[in-house]
Amino acid sequence: MNELMDINPDINVKEEEYIRLLGYPKSYQLEGRSKELAEWAREWYNKNGKPWIYAVPVSNFDISNEKLIIDSVEFSSKKLLKHLKDSDSHSAMLVAVSAGEECENKARELWDEGKPDEYFFLEVYGSAVVEHLITQIGFTFCEQGEKNGFAVLPHYSPGYPGWDIEDQYCLLKLIKRKNNLPGEISVMQTGMLNPKKSLLAVFGITKHLDKVKDLRELIPCETCCLSWCQYRGAPLKHYRYRIEDIHKLQPLNKKKVNLSNNANIILQS
Ligand code: SF4
Repeated sequence: MNELMDINPDINVKEEEYIRLLGYPKSYQLEGRSKELAEWAREWYNKNGKPWIYAVPVSNFDISNEKLIIDSVEFSSKKLLKHLKDSDSHSAMLVAVSAGEECENKARELWDEGKPDEYFFLEVYGSAVVEHLITQIGFTFCEQGEKNGFAVLPHYSPGYPGWDIEDQYCLLKLIKRKNNLPGEISVMQTGMLNPKKSLLAVFGITKHLDKVKDLRELIPCETCCLSWCQYRGAPLKHYRYRIEDIHKLQPLNKKKVNLSNNANIILQS
């Protein structure tokens, strides 16, 4: 696969995805103040957001000797190494996606102005855009895989279970090596990305389609929410891991979190 860049990607986040990421139960219908805030955040982003996608193929890929070495850099994730070995991957694509810094700057402004509801909905919308972008690029890879007889593994990112977030730095360095990144992105000392509404990821590639079908964790469609995908080979079974999970911000054992008088987030049971 070739290097790929998109500075005008689709940002049509599906309503059900947005609702899920807001923390509402499945099939919940937005109404009243929540609906107003959700629509406002979407409109604000559509007007002001500057999303982008960048993907670059790896040049050298070595998973022999129980080590994961990509373009001469060793990565620490044993879990990713296992996925790549189990699927007999022969290569990988390195990806960076970002919702841009505009939405988090605006969200910060809203917080400073004492508007926590608007802050919250815009923050979540930024996260939803990042999820959408990584799904979109995954679809592009799957489409190429269908045409050329290879399978693409579900993406994996530093900070996911079994991959130390410290590896963000090396991964970003590799992704940036051609100096073609269409937007600004850096890694903070904590390992978090700046802008934070961004994601770095590795997509393994294998010609052994049978291996991907046989290994549950490696079936990408089971964690992919692209409902309209014509290449879908398995139903959606569970959602992908997210570094920024809204439920971690919510208190345990409570059914509702008040944002203000009338915009509540209801925990999924
Ligand atoms: S549904 Fe499956 S084939 Fe389609 S984009 Fe998602 S992972 Fe790829």
